[in-house]
Amino acid sequence: MDGNDDILSRVLAGETRAIARLMSKVEGRPAEVAAVMAEIYKHTGKAHIVGLTGVPGSGKSTLVHAMAKALRAGGRTVGIVAVDPSSPYSGGAILGDRVRMSDLATDDGVFIRSLATRGALGGLARAALDTVDVLDAAGFDVVLIETVGVGQDEVDVAEAAQSVLVVSAPGLGDGIQAIKAGVLEIADIHVVSKCDKEESSRTVADLKAMLQLGSTARNRYGWEVPVLRTSAETGLGIEELIDRLDAHRTHLVESGEGEIRKRSILETRILKTAEDLLRQRIGEGDTLTGFVESALGGELSPRQAAEELLKTV
Ligand code: GDP
Repeated sequence: MDGNDDILSRVLAGETRAIARLMSKVEGRPAEVAAVMAEIYKHTGKAHIVGLTGVPGSGKSTLVHAMAKALRAGGRTVGIVAVDPSSPYSGGAILGDRVRMSDLATDDGVFIRSLATRGALGGLARAALDTVDVLDAAGFDVVLIETVGVGQDEVDVAEAAQSVLVVSAPGLGDGIQAIKAGVLEIADIHVVSKCDKEESSRTVADLKAMLQLGSTARNRYGWEVPVLRTSAETGLGIEELIDRLDAHRTHLVESGEGEIRKRSILETRILKTAEDLLRQRIGEGDTLTGFVESALGGELSPRQAAEELLKTV
């Protein structure tokens, strides 16, 4: 416990090595640091948590890099959590594992963490959001969570942010990638990246047309979901994007939407964690196999088996 007390104060003081160590633990052996994470949670709520999602190749990583640089230039510190199911890197800070990010890696005001999907579904969402808590408590001003917009789990992680950016890009089929990926509605801000390319006007027009068709849940609180054009190559739109994000944060506070969203994010987190715990507990014995046998033999229906299974955990 002494070690844990020590790690807590060091993380709260923003010490890089302690942050990395706690993240490894929370990812791999969360039960061991449950008490520390409970303390960490009490120190959260100061950072602006921003989720970015979009199909692979839409330019998310490049945009995150450009945003981090702009935020740093404005004097703000930045935490980055990259949730990448295809990443060959497991755990560990991604210091140096992406060439693009390497110039940020030497900056103390930036902390980058990469999480790869492994193990049971739900585990990743839980780990990603705990990682965000660590960065928030450690005092980072803005935390950017980058997830590939495929799979409900990744979308849930992006949606657990205060402000959600959906990134689309020209040249990836058509302009309605966001719909296909099921992320059109979750955007607070739509970003069309790679606007140094000519075909980008088409992507912007398609998105605007889609947004006019339906009023999304985000509009309900009086926030107009903008479609912003950016280019990480020329720097186009990056400052405006940061300004809009700040405006969105102000909107969340002033409209009361922030509180409503906070509740729904917590609901998701609690359910995801419960799911995680349930899977772990079920997975530890032969109980599930026994119920599968009973259902195979016709003694129990799947629902009856599920109800009996729940009684055992
Ligand atoms: P991710 O998979 O969504 O993270 O996308 P990446 O950030 O890895 O970008 C995918 C590809 O698009 C890479 O080859 C980038 O160099 C390229 N790209 C990203 N942003 C821009 C941009 O603003 N302009 C142009 N022309 N290419 C870009």
